[in-house]
Amino acid sequence: MGKEVILLKLGEIALKGLNRRTFEDALLKSLRRRLKSAGEFSVSSVQSTVYVEPLEETADLELAEKRCAKVFGIVGYVRAAQVEKDLKKIREKAAEYLQETLEEISSFKVECKRSDKKFPYKSPEISAEVGAYLLEKYPHLRVDVHHPDLVVRVEVREQSAFVHSETKPGAGGIPVGTGGKAAVLISGGLDSPVAAYLMAKRGVELVAIHFASPPYTSEQAHDKVVRLLRKVSEYAGRIKMITVNFTRLQEEIRDKCQEDLSTVILRRFMLRAAEQIAREEGCHALATGESLGQVASQTMEAIACTDAVVSMPVFRPLIGADKSEIVKLSYQIDTYDISIEPYEDCCTIFTPKHPRTRPILHFVEDAEKAIDGEGLLTKALENIETMQIWPYES
Ligand code: ATP
Ligand code: MG
Repeated sequence: MGKEVILLKLGEIALKGLNRRTFEDALLKSLRRRLKSAGEFSVSSVQSTVYVEPLEETADLELAEKRCAKVFGIVGYVRAAQVEKDLKKIREKAAEYLQETLEEISSFKVECKRSDKKFPYKSPEISAEVGAYLLEKYPHLRVDVHHPDLVVRVEVREQSAFVHSETKPGAGGIPVGTGGKAAVLISGGLDSPVAAYLMAKRGVELVAIHFASPPYTSEQAHDKVVRLLRKVSEYAGRIKMITVNFTRLQEEIRDKCQEDLSTVILRRFMLRAAEQIAREEGCHALATGESLGQVASQTMEAIACTDAVVSMPVFRPLIGADKSEIVKLSYQIDTYDISIEPYEDCCTIFTPKHPRTRPILHFVEDAEKAIDGEGLLTKALENIETMQIWPYES
């Protein structure tokens, strides 16, 4: 004994009653997959806590901790020293394990949780004992129960005791794979990667669909989307990315459709294509990064015109978000710097000078008849590229 482990506190899962098993299984699966390339770990769950224990010297605990911080379903995580259930050993371990911090701070308190009710001391007694020992060892310290610089936590559990400092906030959400599967339309912009992250946060497995129009859109623009998805997949797990070539379709729309409706027409074709792919991939919904009123194609009327071509639900997790809120999230998931790289998107080529902000459905349907939509869509869907996105080595 005497090794260091990571303790993960489960979130909403704990409330899911009958489904609890499914939730825990999905969570453990996500964790194990992510930890593979950080060394050999045992991952097990007992009473709303997951234990991540290194099984070999070379297992990288720091890396494991970073990975765990991005797993949905976990509300808090902390590295902890595992120690025998012996009060003397516990207090010695507390002094040793937290030495560096204890030397730097001036006040602390000890909090204890005892789930092993057979342990001969009650929580307040354990706290008092450990506190007294730390005061003796570090005479510069004082106890402050209201605003301590550090809370020393002791947990006495069935299998052993643990000592650690404050738990850090986890990724929240619910484990990916428990909320169904959705196809998210992904561009190189700020919004859609954040929307993808938010869908995954609610347990949804993602398939990503990207429309490219080479040579108007470049290889770099495509690569940008791949890099964005890699960031998202640190949270969302493996993502299948499907790239659809929209060049011919866009040229036809540009050449033959009423100019001020071309944006909404393009978006209708995007959703049609996405729905077909989504069905083949076993998805039950689509998702986009739209936010109400952000641009001409994101008015309620324009959204109604695009949604009219699909029967699957289209989720828009950012519909009520301000740009500043989206930016904040993009910093948080580290997609911001990639998103602002200046590459073109198929939505930004051939843009009309005055897109109609309140398109009327039957005019849009009429305007669309100028091209062989069905034929072009079939061709586009015959010409797709697939790749698996996963940020780690294995
Ligand atoms: P984003 O920041 O996500 O690019 P945006 O504010 O630029 O969004 P639009 O370009 O109008 O808005 O796109 C709205 C939504 O349509 C995007 O959030 C995305 O879901 C989808 N979308 C746009 N362009 C593409 C594309 N090339 N491939 C796939 N989906 C796209
Ligand atoms: Mg965009």
